[in-house]
Amino acid sequence: MPRTRLSYARILAHMKLNKLVAETRKLCQPYCVTDGRNFRLKDVDPSDTGPLRPEDKAHAKKTVARGIEALASLQDTLYAQDSWAVLLIFQAMDAAGKDGAIKHVMSGINPQGCQVASFKAPSAEELDHDYLWRCQKHLPERGCIGIFNRSYYEELLVVRVHPEFLDKQRLPPTLVDKKIWDNRFEDVRGFERYLTRNGIAIRKFFLHVSHAEQERRFLERLDTPEKNWKFSAADITERQHWPEYMAAYQDMIRATATPWAPWYVVPADHKWFTRAVVAGAVIDALASLHLHYPEVGSAKRAELAAARKTLLAAKKTGR
Ligand code: ATP
Ligand code: MG
Repeated sequence: MPRTRLSYARILAHMKLNKLVAETRKLCQPYCVTDGRNFRLKDVDPSDTGPLRPEDKAHAKKTVARGIEALASLQDTLYAQDSWAVLLIFQAMDAAGKDGAIKHVMSGINPQGCQVASFKAPSAEELDHDYLWRCQKHLPERGCIGIFNRSYYEELLVVRVHPEFLDKQRLPPTLVDKKIWDNRFEDVRGFERYLTRNGIAIRKFFLHVSHAEQERRFLERLDTPEKNWKFSAADITERQHWPEYMAAYQDMIRATATPWAPWYVVPADHKWFTRAVVAGAVIDALASLHLHYPEVGSAKRAELAAARKTLLAAKKTGR
């Protein structure tokens, strides 16, 4: 019977998904920080590939491809249920592979239910508002996945490393004191708690590339004509502030990793591994929402039956 076959197929698909979720959860769990109090960046090796070795690269790529298929079906349910939204935040030093990870992991999903926003140095209009203003305008609507390529976390990173950016914000001077960063940590935690309580599930990714690998990638951008456009002289200036950035990242993760908005500190020297961990964490995030298609009530079922009858009657009469 079609009905039995369908439910059997569904059970099978469900079992496969559960297995995939369990596998990917195991892979990405070691990089998930839900309580940052004892977090130390030096404990995360950017060249780590977890239980996988370079010879597992092809296998990992296949698993990611399967994961992306599963992600597409989870996103379909998220969209149909129209209740939860998912916000994915990506932060990293230049050339850590943010763009590639976003492109790769999101490659199979329906663009209708996903929006990406990139946050660059703020415009004059943006500087006229509080720093969350520009990000709030891009929060995902229910049923959708929103991706932030950089975010309000820049306020705790680049703005902290370059105090001149803080001057540009023209805050009342009495508010700019030594407590400003702790206050911002508190505000960001509160904001993310608020979003979560409004049905936006948050996952944050810091793609942790090493100083040496960044240099290698910069040289590749300089030496490959097709990659020249990716290079910006500012990238070299920021590289000179590496220790300040690492300290700022560590502080940020310590202060803003929470059970409801965890940070994934993802080793980023091997792109194939970074993508496997990010894909796994996104699948895990969606699976943890226990999504389901909306239940069809008796009125809707009667409407569907009537539509079916009309369609078949029209077929008989050739109309
Ligand atoms: P890519 O280099 O891969 O194209 P990107 O995200 O580095 O992507 P860029 O245009 O190179 O994009 O850089 C954007 C710059 O804007 C970064 O240096 C970032 O630190 C800076 N930026 C983002 N938000 C703020 C902010 N609130 N205040 C000051 N600078 C910011
Ligand atoms: Mg850049």
